[in-house]
Amino acid sequence: MHVLLQQVNANTLPHAVLFVAGPRTDLDSAIQVFAKSLLCENAKQNQSCGICKSCQLLAAQTHPDYCVLTGEGKTNTISIDTIRSITDFCEQTPQCADKKIIVIVEAENMNMAAYNALLKTLEEPVRNTYFFLGTHILAAIPATIRSRCQIVRLQLDESIKMPWQTELETDCLGLTQGKLDPLTMAQKWQKEEVDLVLNALYEYFAKIKNFECLDKITSLRKKILQHGSLNIQLQLESLLIDCAQLCRCS
Ligand SMILES: [Zn+2]
Repeated sequence: MHVLLQQVNANTLPHAVLFVAGPRTDLDSAIQVFAKSLLCENAKQNQSCGICKSCQLLAAQTHPDYCVLTGEGKTNTISIDTIRSITDFCEQTPQCADKKIIVIVEAENMNMAAYNALLKTLEEPVRNTYFFLGTHILAAIPATIRSRCQIVRLQLDESIKMPWQTELETDCLGLTQGKLDPLTMAQKWQKEEVDLVLNALYEYFAKIKNFECLDKITSLRKKILQHGSLNIQLQLESLLIDCAQLCRCS
């Protein structure tokens, strides 16, 4: 990742990058956080500002210069049609930012026809258009594709902790010290993917060895699995109220 950041600063970012990471790394977040920081108008040290027009469009998932390709069906296959669907996107000039980014997180899920179509696109690079591919299984990516990409190996320590995770940890600390109100915290974090938030909370309370809080998190996870449509904010509120109380007692 370090090399890439230098390339961004030197304006020599290659037009195709293949990110490779171990199974425990959240490759999806790592790539998307990086890609979004490139589109942000005021990114500092490659972290998006979260307030500029680009960041707002990205948050609303309506950024005209950003495209994430995912698989379909039970096998999560990325088909040739999906790759073809971005032909127009590749040809148009960037509308909002100064570049366009296409993210393919699980690149190993492309079928052969899709790889061939992608290869054609990669062989004829379009100005200001960047492809960020990701995979946990480098060997599953055809050599022809690999040879067209700069390969970047993400280390666990540099990719696993996203900016939001650090922020959540700070909030947890505030919560356990009674400096942050559980309701305010729930309100803030209910907007994020609940699985990821619960994972990060679990990590935090595991670190401070508060097993009662871990039990609470586990049972909330189960509850969410069993009932699809829960009010996440209410659930988070009650979880964080419990955790705050448990931390004060211990
Ligand atoms: Zn921004």
